[in-house]
Amino acid sequence: MVMGREELGQRSETVRRANLSAIVRELHLHGPLSRSELVARTGLTRSAIRALIGELVTGELVVEEPALRLGTPGRPSPLVRLATESTVVLALEISIDSLAVAILGAGGVVLEHRRVDRPRGHSTLEEIAADLVDLARAARARRPLGETPIGVGVAVAGIVNRSDGLVSFAPNLGWVDVPLGATLTAGLALPVPVGVANESDLGALAELRRGAARGADDVLYVHGEVGVGGGIIVDGRPLSGIAGYGGEIGHMPINPQGRPCRCGSTGCWETEVGERALLARAGYPLDGGRAAVDAVLADAAAGVPEALAALQSVGRWLGLGLAGLVNILNPRRVILGGLLSRIHPFVADLVEASLDRHALAAPRRLVSVVPSTLGVDAPLLGAAEMAFEPLLADPAAWLGTRGALVQLESA
Ligand SMILES: [Zn+2]
Repeated sequence: MVMGREELGQRSETVRRANLSAIVRELHLHGPLSRSELVARTGLTRSAIRALIGELVTGELVVEEPALRLGTPGRPSPLVRLATESTVVLALEISIDSLAVAILGAGGVVLEHRRVDRPRGHSTLEEIAADLVDLARAARARRPLGETPIGVGVAVAGIVNRSDGLVSFAPNLGWVDVPLGATLTAGLALPVPVGVANESDLGALAELRRGAARGADDVLYVHGEVGVGGGIIVDGRPLSGIAGYGGEIGHMPINPQGRPCRCGSTGCWETEVGERALLARAGYPLDGGRAAVDAVLADAAAGVPEALAALQSVGRWLGLGLAGLVNILNPRRVILGGLLSRIHPFVADLVEASLDRHALAAPRRLVSVVPSTLGVDAPLLGAAEMAFEPLLADPAAWLGTRGALVQLESA
């Protein structure tokens, strides 16, 4: 096939953008790297790396710093790092009993972080959005004047349509078909897109990039509090379904003789492994919240039989559900987040035994079940990662745009 000049030009432009993306992604995920390390990681030639880094430096996305001489012979290779402080995102989170805000710089560096308690129970969209806007304003006020995020990510404990940020169902908040994305876009009044996604999907993303799932391409993240959600990564990519509603493993029917679920069905997995199941079995009030959960775990650590029995029951149902999911997904790693990471030390043996008994031998051998390493902040950090994604996918679009953003906002 003979290619026209124009077509060749387009193709080389596509290659250039993809190569810039590869470099920025490596720096974002691994931190500062020398040019030689970038050559090794991207497979690009030394001269290509030099030219592309030159572009990124001119466009103020990366900085080159003289390397420290570490006693190795030869000229030290300069370190290339992302311009952390000048390329930032805003991350927000609405969870069952807290709201959180963070500002992160490129490379995932946390520059600002605040989490405040919120009373459990239903809140209107207007209340939550106003609180988040206030938190964001306060966080931005602590940053240099004129700093504008390149994107905003929002994690919410609910089922979300990613295309427009509509929360179709969030039982903890009492929300059905609530336009969270549009309301925050108006409230924040920033000249950048506001992305909204489910907290478990974002927790999975954060654990994959910066936590317990690093290095694994097939991951199941199970986030349990009152509700139980799932984030599924298949072949390095999130499994979201047609609209982003996928991964709702908490509503996997598991016990036909079980309790009614908040979703309207009966015997969903979360009615056996969620917070209320644990509290009910341990003899605590269902709406006892975090304090009651803390008490059950303290009882269990002290050997109180009711607390241990409650945890064992949760552990058995947890193992049973995970066995089915391991058979379906064949993941390398299962990450337990939220309440489930706190109960993991008490139920690890039961879960492993349940996997031995109920999962197919081949996928069972390949999977490990581990607690989250990012803890309560996994969804918030995932929201930041989502907000960074357009930059990582096509940094060329950002070269030299920061001045324009500042002008846009002050206009
Ligand atoms: Zn349900």
